[in-house]
Amino acid sequence: MPPSEFKLYDTLSRQVKPIETAEPGHLRFYTCGPTVYSYAHIGNFRSFLAADLVVRTARALGWRVTWVSNITDVGHLTQDDVADAGGEDRMEKALHSKEGEQFANVWDLAEYYTQAYLEDWQRLNLTEPEVRPRATQHVREQILMAQALVEKGNAYETPTGVYFDVESQPDYGKLSGNTRDKLQEAVRDVVLDENKRRQADFALWKKDDKHLMQWFSPWGWGFPGWHIECSAMARAYLGDTIDLHSGGEDNAFPHHECEIAQSEAFTGKPFSNHWMHVRFLQVEGEKMAKRAGNFFTVRDLLEKGFDPLALRFALMSVPYGKPMNFTLQLLRDAQGHVERFRECERRVAVAGGSTPPSVSPGTNPFEDTERVALGDELQRLYEGALDAMANDLNTSVAIAKSLEGAKAILREPSLTPAQARAAATYLDQVNGLLGVVRSEHEPSGPPPAAETPTVDGRTVDAWVGLRDEAKRAKDYAAADAIRARLAEAGVELRDSPEGTTWALRPGG
Ligand code: AMP
Ligand code: ZN
Repeated sequence: MPPSEFKLYDTLSRQVKPIETAEPGHLRFYTCGPTVYSYAHIGNFRSFLAADLVVRTARALGWRVTWVSNITDVGHLTQDDVADAGGEDRMEKALHSKEGEQFANVWDLAEYYTQAYLEDWQRLNLTEPEVRPRATQHVREQILMAQALVEKGNAYETPTGVYFDVESQPDYGKLSGNTRDKLQEAVRDVVLDENKRRQADFALWKKDDKHLMQWFSPWGWGFPGWHIECSAMARAYLGDTIDLHSGGEDNAFPHHECEIAQSEAFTGKPFSNHWMHVRFLQVEGEKMAKRAGNFFTVRDLLEKGFDPLALRFALMSVPYGKPMNFTLQLLRDAQGHVERFRECERRVAVAGGSTPPSVSPGTNPFEDTERVALGDELQRLYEGALDAMANDLNTSVAIAKSLEGAKAILREPSLTPAQARAAATYLDQVNGLLGVVRSEHEPSGPPPAAETPTVDGRTVDAWVGLRDEAKRAKDYAAADAIRARLAEAGVELRDSPEGTTWALRPGG
């Protein structure tokens, strides 16, 4: 029996609670997408992957899902994480950087990184959202919303723009805990924008006739604030009140707090019934930074020869509500897991391809007993994985259950047709829920630049992953055999406390 509820931690009520959809069995879900001024990094993808897993879990429970995830292709400001959004425009800054020299203008730059993002999305086997609105295509809705907020008295015009008056929403701060009194304290040190009534007021529109991306509005030429774009797009596709809204933990304030204030002031209704925030990904114990050499994009890792499904596996190995430390060792372990599922698929294909179609269940008592034994075990494991996902997306338990199923399939020396059918059903179910068995997309875009060497049909990283597994299982004979086979093929393994690395023997 599938679980009857889908529980998630809700940042607004600060508790794990069942998602309640306004329309029974139909989830209307909005996820904040990237600002396309550069390649999205694997931390960004941790957030998108968590949202993808919400969609997969809801569908596995039999729900219909309408998922909207935007693309922020209008530059917002480098200091958007402070409420008043000062600083330089991210797109303009990127255009004037070294990488930006290849683009004719800021529109081309946004388009290039949008395409790169969509390619990486597919490589990580993420579900395609129903709608991917672009902020630049919804400027009109944003202007109309800002205008209505001015008319209602929730926003005001100054010589520099239009600002939302946070005093006009008494419950401002309810999501993040940054209530107005605390805000005044927090922003005391920030340069005060003289034009605003109070520092915490945030921009709905910035007047700027020099900006590289500008639109005409009732307040002259300029561009919209960042927060208003998500309020306008969520409403355009999902209505006044949505069921669930997600983003990374840094989105809770100011972005989502400001979305709530302006949407609720505009409609007079609750904006979202459930709020999900994904904890940050760190790399090798540190914040990702180009200077620290630990800044990875999806394509960086694929170019090193890692399998995209292994990257997906690694990124979901820690539940979204816990901070996660990403290491290359984690990725190598994941490679071993992906290989296991591939081996299961091969065994199923072999069993299906080399045996005659089976008789209907029940006519062969021997076969039926087998079917019941493996089929029941796999069904129980899949249900365990689904239960774990419906319980606040517990990916570590779901992964463990799904691997147990793979082990059960591989335990059989060869699969009977009935077992092969049960295994095929199981692999489809696990893939639907977790997306780690096979990719549902044809990879688009250029193939990864460099290929890692393969030995006996497996990449060296996959062998390293299998050897790690063998060592963990104390099967040292198998671990040594892998080392010896790789050495024979000219690949040397080096073990260290940080994990195993490999190198090609010169001339090997
Ligand atoms: P941005 O392009 O900066 O708006 O980020 C896109 C999404 O990725 C947002 O939902 C961010 O909250 C999220 N995000 C940014 N950095 C990380 C990180 N290191 N780990 C997890 N999520 C992140
Ligand atoms: Zn957003």
